[in-house]
Amino acid sequence: MTQTGNSPPSTDFIREMIDGHLRNNRFQGRVATRFPPEPNGYLHIGHAKSVCLNFGIATQHGGTCNLRLDDTDPSGESLEYVESIINDVRWLGFDWEDRLFYASDYFEQLFQFAVQLIKVGKAYVCSLNADEIREQRGTLTEPGKESPYRDRSMEENLDLFARMRAGEFEDGAHVLRAKIDMTSPNITMRDPILYRIKRATHYRTGTLWCLYPMYDFAHCLSDSIEKITHSICTLEFENNRPLYDWILDELKVESHPQQIEFARLNLSYTILSKRRLIELVVNEYVTGWDDPRMPTIAGMRRRGYTPEAIRNFCERIGVAKNDSIIDVALLEYCVRENLNEKARRVMAVLNPLRVVIDNYPEGQTEEFHSPYHPQNPQMGSRKVPFSRVLYIERDDFMENPPKKFYRLAPGKEVRFRYGYFIKCVSVVKDPKTGQVVELHCTYDPETRSGFAPDGRKVDATIHWVSADHSLPAEVRLYDRLFNVPNPGEGSSDFTEYLNKKSLEILRSCRVEPSLKGATPGSRYQFERLGYFCIDSVDSSRKALVFNRTATLRDAWAKISEKEKR
Ligand code: ATP
Ligand code: MG
Repeated sequence: MTQTGNSPPSTDFIREMIDGHLRNNRFQGRVATRFPPEPNGYLHIGHAKSVCLNFGIATQHGGTCNLRLDDTDPSGESLEYVESIINDVRWLGFDWEDRLFYASDYFEQLFQFAVQLIKVGKAYVCSLNADEIREQRGTLTEPGKESPYRDRSMEENLDLFARMRAGEFEDGAHVLRAKIDMTSPNITMRDPILYRIKRATHYRTGTLWCLYPMYDFAHCLSDSIEKITHSICTLEFENNRPLYDWILDELKVESHPQQIEFARLNLSYTILSKRRLIELVVNEYVTGWDDPRMPTIAGMRRRGYTPEAIRNFCERIGVAKNDSIIDVALLEYCVRENLNEKARRVMAVLNPLRVVIDNYPEGQTEEFHSPYHPQNPQMGSRKVPFSRVLYIERDDFMENPPKKFYRLAPGKEVRFRYGYFIKCVSVVKDPKTGQVVELHCTYDPETRSGFAPDGRKVDATIHWVSADHSLPAEVRLYDRLFNVPNPGEGSSDFTEYLNKKSLEILRSCRVEPSLKGATPGSRYQFERLGYFCIDSVDSSRKALVFNRTATLRDAWAKISEKEKR
């Protein structure tokens, strides 16, 4: 079965490869990994898989994992993203100690590496434009054509490259290319571009540079500079591995890491691509990167997910060499499992219906001693006030119930959680709409313990709050953001699949008074309703706002079962 908690992670092909390297002493017994996000968006659950993998492997082997901002492309990168990434990785529970690095700090070194590559005749300045380069690259079945600039002299290349840096040329006028093999069956190896001119302000280096390295050049060298041993990345970089190795070999660097590719996480009902997530934010389909419906770490945190739940999920899915789609229900299962263990149980009524207990003395209040967790007495307890006027969930009453409706109905008796048996004697309706607005009930004073001395039984226990003592609250019910299993598939616009009912806001909810002054971010189980968390942005002492993290059971499983039938 899958692993949880503190048990050692199960093994996989990456860990097996590392074990092999440790046995044959390839890296002198060292294990050094890195997590290298580009600060051009917030981290999402897919990144969490990579974070857990890289930090997990390092910890397991007594090694290190660096956090590196891979900020070599100024367009779209920003300090806001850097800060969010740092915050999110830390929140997930990982520590890079003093090893926070920025690829942009290596710009000068990278430039000098490029100069060196020119000097050994392995790079040249190409003056074809982007379209021409693309046309000459060839296809899977046709070899590419060599650039007419391929045989420029070393001196000319050095001169042009220096002038590119100095800002003498327009964007796109020249690029620096590796001189490899235009007939290689691997298109990546057909004289790939290493540097391009780009007049853009970098969020850290400002306008110091107008020349920026490409990913393939910057990444392997950043890894090498940091003496990484295992450079773990996603499968789409498999074809880039020969280039990774070529650059490091040609430059004869001291440290040559092993690139290893694994399958990226795909989740059903979810989009995991920064480009598309940005679209959702910019076009205001969601309220921001931290909208609780977003698959971002920031969104999930605000929604009430715990770091443990996310880590357990990442461990359960494991790592593989081929792409697959993980059912989002597994993620939801992991958060339920964790919150079931650690969330305090409290009572809240989302759609209140007023209940008057006719035989309960006016002005009287009593308190029920109620544990916060049925299985864990160490979580303590609180007192829940009971009085003459209460609220119950509108759904827990039916005037004309069908046979199998076990909750409250005229003439029917139920147990109020932690307290008395209550019997409904009459209903009050709005004369205009006919809607039931109030129930009149009686209570049996002999049933305070939750049991009747005469041994009679009730069919249901329902939750409630005291009208005068409870606090008003807004509750936001979230559901999946997309209503199809694979919203990213195919050519149609993924926004067509947005679930229009992904957010329902309830503004007249009531919660028990123990929640007064609760800290933003606190998580609870609202009995019988689900897991909820105090919104860290919009909630205040005056106006409590809760986000539903998860329902108690998987409602979607039922829906898809029905569809199958
Ligand atoms: P996206 O495809 O969402 O835009 P990206 O790959 O461009 O993401 P980076 O910032 O480059 O984002 O990613 C940082 C690290 O996280 C990389 O090592 C990348 O391989 C890994 N990563 C990104 N997305 C996933 C995913 N869905 N599953 C696993 N790892 C991922
Ligand atoms: Mg990337």
